[in-house]
Amino acid sequence: MIVLNNLHKSYVTGNNSLHVLKGIDLEIHAGEFVSVMGSSGSGKSTLLNILGILDDYDEGDYFLDGKKIKGLNETRAAITRNQMIGFVFQSFNLISFKNALENVALPLYYQKVSRRKRNVIAMEYLDRFGLKDWADHLPAELSGGQKQRVAIARAMISKPQVILADEPTGALDTATSFEVMQILKEVNDQGITVIIVTHEHDIAAMTSKIIRMKDGIIGETIINGDLKMYREIIRSENTFSYV
Ligand code: ADP
Ligand code: MG
Repeated sequence: MIVLNNLHKSYVTGNNSLHVLKGIDLEIHAGEFVSVMGSSGSGKSTLLNILGILDDYDEGDYFLDGKKIKGLNETRAAITRNQMIGFVFQSFNLISFKNALENVALPLYYQKVSRRKRNVIAMEYLDRFGLKDWADHLPAELSGGQKQRVAIARAMISKPQVILADEPTGALDTATSFEVMQILKEVNDQGITVIIVTHEHDIAAMTSKIIRMKDGIIGETIINGDLKMYREIIRSENTFSYV
C-alpha cells in the first residue's frame, strides 16, 4: 500500500535549512495497523503529511497503492487524497458552527453529493460510530471522545483505503483514548490500513506494528507479538515519556 525509498525532506526558512527526514525506508502493507513513535520534533507529523499528500518531499520515492506520488499539482493531490486517504487529528479539526451530521457530511459536499443524500449517508456513519443521538449537536456540546468519533466518521465517509491519524488520543484521557483506539481497530478490521502517530506506549501496543523514528530515519520496527523485545528496548533506554 505504502512504499518509501530513501525519502528526504528539509524545511527551508530564509537562509536556514532543517533536514528533518534523512532517508526513510518504509513499507506498509494493505490492512496493517501501524503506529509511529519518536521524540517530539523527530519528524512524525512531517512523515504523516507526506504520506497524506499534504506536503511534498525532496528526494527518494513514495509509492501509494503502486502509484508514484511526487510533485503533484494541488488538483491531482486533492483527487488522490480524496480517493485514498482519511485524516484524523489530535485537535479533531471539526467545524465549530456545524453540527455533528454536517461535519461528517462535509466530504460528500465537496464531492457534490446532494444535501438529502449526504445527510442520509452521514446519519448512517454517525449511527455506526454510536452517535446517532448527537447528530444535531455542535462540537462544543460533545465530549472529547465523541468529537474524535465524529472526526473518524468524517474520515471514513469517503471510503478511504488509508486512515492517517496524528496523535488521535493526544487530547483524551486514558479511558477515552482506549475507546478511540478500539474504534480505529474496528476500522482496521474492515481491511483499512491505519497509521497513527502516538507518544504513548500503551496506545502503540494496541497496533500490530510499531515504527520508531530517530534522528530523521526509522530506528526499529517492532512487530506486535514481539512485545517482549519492545519492552526490553524501552527498559534499555530507560525512557517512558517519549520513545
Ligand atoms: P513531530 O511531529 O515528530 O513532533 P514535526 O514533523 O512536526 O515533528 O517537526 C519536525 C521538525 O521540523 C521540527 O524541528 C519542527 O520544528 C520542524 N518543522 C515542522 N514543520 C515545519 C515547517 N512547516 N517549517 C519549518 N520547520 C518545520
Ligand atoms: Mg507532530
